[in-house]
Amino acid sequence: MVNLQDEIKRNIDRVRENIELAATRSGRSAGEICLMGVTKFQPLDAIYAALSCGLSFFGENRVQERDEKKSKWDGPDATWHMIGHLQRNKARRALELFDCIQSVDNFELASALERIIATNEDGERHLSPYPIMAEVNVSGEESKQGVSPEKCFALIEDIAVKCPHIEIKGLMTIGPISSDERMIGESFATLRGIRDDARGRFGLALPHLSMGMSGDYAIAIEEGSTIVRIGGALFGARDR
Ligand SMILES: *Cc1c(COP(=O)(O)O)cnc(C)c1O
Repeated sequence: MVNLQDEIKRNIDRVRENIELAATRSGRSAGEICLMGVTKFQPLDAIYAALSCGLSFFGENRVQERDEKKSKWDGPDATWHMIGHLQRNKARRALELFDCIQSVDNFELASALERIIATNEDGERHLSPYPIMAEVNVSGEESKQGVSPEKCFALIEDIAVKCPHIEIKGLMTIGPISSDERMIGESFATLRGIRDDARGRFGLALPHLSMGMSGDYAIAIEEGSTIVRIGGALFGARDR
């Protein structure tokens, strides 16, 4: 039996090396790119193993799963981002469980978050605006969540103008389901273009582009990704 810790360490080393290579190829520094371990369906032991290899930035896509893991958590502090579809009725709990919600794709959700924080309903003291990202469905695939590229400017502007207690830190997307690397690259470049446009139009910094998963993170880095969200390539097959 392969030791879980050794296997995860090897995987982390390999992914970090690939991040470095992709960064170098595109004239970037690997230090600009954050590696997120996506821990959905993973047991706590796998997460502890990743932590002991120096990875402390994780993503979950369901409030309930994060809630269950948090209640059993016996490890050091880590940073957790919500990366899955969030229903408004779980917004309050999500704010308690996550350091950032990357998957905001409609204004109703954004204003629910705003109201909960503004009235301190989540019981947390947010000293600075709570960080979120807008999820954009660049590829237009029906199976994907996310605001359309056409509507995302209005969403970004509405959040910036009407939601002082949340701050939009950037954009998130899931690459197209395709093996055509050129098409995948174009999709990520489109997200970057939207970000650059929005920066100019609204004077926002929007430092983050969360794009790239196990199968396409090298391409995403070449197109400017600052957060790659990696599940399978770090933790192996998920135990469903
Ligand atoms: C599961 C998931 C990932 C990680 O996918 P892998 O292909 O396992 O790397 C990244 N982002 C989101 C939103 C996910 O749901």
